[in-house]
Amino acid sequence: MVDVVIIGLGCAGYTAAIYCARYKLLTLIVGDKEGGTGMAAAEVGDWPGTQFITGPELMENLKAHALTFDSVTHKLARVERIAKDIDGFTVHLQGGEAVQGRTVILTTGTKHRLLDVPGEKEFAGKGVTYCATCDAFFFKGKDVAVLGGGDSAVEGAAIAAQVARTVYLIHRRKEFRAEPYWVERVLARDNVKTVLERNVIEILGDTNVTGVRLDKPWKGSDTITLDGVFVEIGADPDSALALDAGCALDERRFVKVNAGMGTSVPGIFAAGDLTNASNYFAQFVTAAGEGGVAANSVFHYLSKQRNF
Ligand code: NAP
Repeated sequence: MVDVVIIGLGCAGYTAAIYCARYKLLTLIVGDKEGGTGMAAAEVGDWPGTQFITGPELMENLKAHALTFDSVTHKLARVERIAKDIDGFTVHLQGGEAVQGRTVILTTGTKHRLLDVPGEKEFAGKGVTYCATCDAFFFKGKDVAVLGGGDSAVEGAAIAAQVARTVYLIHRRKEFRAEPYWVERVLARDNVKTVLERNVIEILGDTNVTGVRLDKPWKGSDTITLDGVFVEIGADPDSALALDAGCALDERRFVKVNAGMGTSVPGIFAAGDLTNASNYFAQFVTAAGEGGVAANSVFHYLSKQRNF
């Protein structure tokens, strides 16, 4: 039995683990995918005190920091279910193993959104990918499209433009919602073409992607010839585990938390991109901040229990 089981191996999870360790809490951090969505950040320029670091480097630093503490154990495994016990919770892992914790911190983050058009499933992995910054390298000298208008799409287009021949940034509205820093950077590239107020209604291909079909013609044609399509249209909270454990969700399925990152289930806390905290501002700093607050709340929750 550990004091806290942290579920999720991203920025919120590792920061929570660091704080739990400093509160001398016996901590297990478990998840099936190392690093979370932060791994997709090719350039992080907003981690305070560090002008430039990549997402994978930042995640490696956070993990290494958390694992310097003897009280923190790390496990790579998929969590299937959280069950309430008399003393806390049993966390069931894939393959039948189970671990017990007095409390749980959920940091399961988000899952990329699907475009849901013909051709998307057929060509997934055959030119359709969901992380421009991770996969751009495979499209050196080729023509690609990035779909979306948020930070992921615009940052992804800027990174892809460093290697691809042409990047079509296709967005359904006139304005981007991404940080002006990335918008300016992408618009400054000669090889980026913005295709605005257009939706992709079909991904075309034979054995691999050959193009996309638009809902309205652009420069006289309703198709664009391409080698790759990066779907970067946002993410939905990975909250199925939280829901199954009885945690209340908001209308968009983010886990509802209070100011101390407590969920509606006493003893279960949540932090990072899957919560409705921090104004839904999904950043490394907010994930880290929420992770620290969740650890502090676990400390107070367990201190109270031990005093009674
Ligand atoms: P996002 O901010 O939700 O943006 C999603 C974009 O995709 C929006 O422009 C949206 O259009 C468009 N979209 C959504 N559904 C669509 C559909 N079915 N068809 C066509 N377009 C669609 O998602 P995100 O860019 O992945 O960012 C998620 C969070 O991570 C944000 O909080 C973001 O700030 C953060 N993030 C930060 C950085 C960074 O560098 N700091 C990098 C990546 C992500 P509308 O604009 O019309 O809604």
